[in-house]
Amino acid sequence: MGASGRMGQMLVRLVDDSAETTLAAVVERAGHDWLGRDLGQAMGGAAHGLVVTDDVDGALAQSDVVIDFTTPAVSVALAHRAAAAGVAHVIGTTGFSDEDLAAIAQAGQTGRIVRAGNMSLGVNLLVKLTRQVAAALGTEYDIEIVEAHHRHKVDAPSGTALMLGEAAAAGRGVALDAVADRARDGITGARAQGAIGFHAIRGGDYIGEHDVIFAGEGERIVLRHVASDRALFARGAVRAAIWAQSAAPGEYSMLDVLGL
Ligand code: NAD
Repeated sequence: MGASGRMGQMLVRLVDDSAETTLAAVVERAGHDWLGRDLGQAMGGAAHGLVVTDDVDGALAQSDVVIDFTTPAVSVALAHRAAAAGVAHVIGTTGFSDEDLAAIAQAGQTGRIVRAGNMSLGVNLLVKLTRQVAAALGTEYDIEIVEAHHRHKVDAPSGTALMLGEAAAAGRGVALDAVADRARDGITGARAQGAIGFHAIRGGDYIGEHDVIFAGEGERIVLRHVASDRALFARGAVRAAIWAQSAAPGEYSMLDVLGL
């Protein structure tokens, strides 16, 4: 779903390349100039054999699972159609409202859904580890989260940095809002014990780097994830799609896919 998008094109290549998956159908929005064209030629290469369609139900009828990196409105509607068709739904789309999330949860009562704002296997592992380390260490270890992204990124801290902050706060049994310390500048006073600090580097072509630092007296523990290729998000989505085949109805996250 969303075959011509940045993630969509990457997913087409990965699904085609994997011995475990077969591309059954490719869907784009009504009016898109890829509709009716051969997928491979639309992507600027040799003929593929699949024709790009906007017939969602026809595509679902030929599929075991739909991988969806589109927009919130599209993903919410698709969650219900996929559930009705008995097709598992992997949602990589981000930016959902609370109402959207409630609607997806409702679809998950009968459908099989995997939804994650970051499909990277490593980042999801880092979230889990951050929670564990924060739970194991007391507040005498200061937690600082440092992230770096390319110069075009418009929001800070990154959504992933906030996910890591939530995990650290959960490990300590506190609410992140109560302890987050963002964008220090000037005479800020000494660091408050238990604070979770955030720092954002912006520049060049960083794809995404996250450090979670636990700074104690005489030692520091640093958990680090470095993304060096956007394909890692697509690889996570394909892994989720394979996992979803044998899942019971419900809404799952990448932590479930990873067995974490
Ligand atoms: P994009 O704009 O390049 O691609 C979105 C595609 O969806 C477009 O080709 C668009 O035509 C298509 N689309 C829109 N409406 C449609 C419809 N009704 N039917 C079928 N296709 C439709 O965007 P992108 O960079 O590929 O990102 C897409 C989403 O995935 C965003 O929400 C982004 O934040 C998210 N994302 C998530 C992860 C993750 O790890 N979860 C990683 C990267 C991007």
